[in-house]
Amino acid sequence: MVDLSAYAGRTVEVSLSQASDETFQMYGAFVDDVTVSTGQGSTSFEADGDTLDGWTTPGPPPGSPGNTNDWIVGTAAQTPPSPGAVARASLRRQPEILAFLSHYFGRYPFKVAGGIVEKDDRLQFALETQTRPVYASAFFTNRTDGDSVVVHELTHQWYGDSLAVRRWRDIWLNEGFATYAEWLWARHVGTGSPAAIFALAYNAIPAGDPFWSLRIGNPGPDHLFDQPVYLRGAMTLHRLRQQVGDRDFFRILRRWAGARAGGNVSTPEFVRLAERVSGQHLHALFRTWLYTPRKPALPRSAAPRSGGGGQAYAPGRSSGKGARSSVCKPRCALAAR
Ligand SMILES: [Zn+2]
Repeated sequence: MVDLSAYAGRTVEVSLSQASDETFQMYGAFVDDVTVSTGQGSTSFEADGDTLDGWTTPGPPPGSPGNTNDWIVGTAAQTPPSPGAVARASLRRQPEILAFLSHYFGRYPFKVAGGIVEKDDRLQFALETQTRPVYASAFFTNRTDGDSVVVHELTHQWYGDSLAVRRWRDIWLNEGFATYAEWLWARHVGTGSPAAIFALAYNAIPAGDPFWSLRIGNPGPDHLFDQPVYLRGAMTLHRLRQQVGDRDFFRILRRWAGARAGGNVSTPEFVRLAERVSGQHLHALFRTWLYTPRKPALPRSAAPRSGGGGQAYAPGRSSGKGARSSVCKPRCALAAR
């Protein structure tokens, strides 16, 4: 209810605004059956030939692109599924997701699995609580994003829970891996591929962007969960994959999870394992991608190709600003850790 009594007897304009960004459109605002308590006016927006009943929609501000959902007149049946319905559908896929992840990472490290979705909007992140990740309902605005955050948090059961970083500076060992798993999942469900997502991100973020200035191998206490830790962390893994090949890459991931299960880990240990498995010197690659505060150059063999089934990539994604970030930011936007 909006109290308009201060304007009694005068003509006032009431407008409704919904702000969103390039990452989250969320559900917008649902408006129907507007009535004035004095009985002086009402509107229902029904499809009666004059759906807006005198209301107007100004569209996006000057300079901003339009979108396809400025104003939709429809029926209740056309409304998007509720976060609860999306969450239930995503959580129902957990057995499938765990089987998928086990294929790449080795046996699931715990005896039980599940998840908890917070019903209200108080939570603004997801967190990989061991065997029971916790999710903000805001992640479940659509099936693709809902499934992806579940993939992210379940990946942490291997990398983050079973393996725990000894020092917070090595947090990319958690977030880079969980983000890369989302890329693997994207290929599985046909919405992208690791190569395409890597290429899109690499091409979309110019060398002068502050994104590249964070040393994700030691980001500092104020930047542990900044977007580059996730995205550049996943890109680091993709570069490793390009360097050592698929067979050794997934062998490294499985051995990392298996040999160190239940233990504390560090980046130097991961580098040593990767070198041992691949028989290659990899210090330069990791130094460049984890510890050098600028955009890495790519060897000709790893130059990104466009196309390949990727989806539009927004560099602002998962920026983890404000309340959106906290512990785990699956692709981070809402700040899931
Ligand atoms: Zn995470």
